[in-house]
Amino acid sequence: MVPLSIIVLLLMPAVRMKQCPYCGKILRQDESECRHCGRELPINMVQCPNCKKFVPEKPYCIECNKGL
Ligand SMILES: [Zn+2]
Ligand SMILES: [Zn+2]
Repeated sequence: MVPLSIIVLLLMPAVRMKQCPYCGKILRQDESECRHCGRELPINMVQCPNCKKFVPEKPYCIECNKGL
């Protein structure tokens, strides 16, 4: 029997995640404020598929300059 937590982890990549720029916690892409520190999140953050960093949603990654 596969533990539920493993299934959740396998499903995770389908959900777009972002990182709170204030406290660094991982949040869902559609959240407009951090449920950990309560601050508003003005910038859409996406995870770069190349360097795996969380960067503002732009045509390119500000960390590695590759296209997103
Ligand atoms: Zn936060
Ligand atoms: Zn990158």
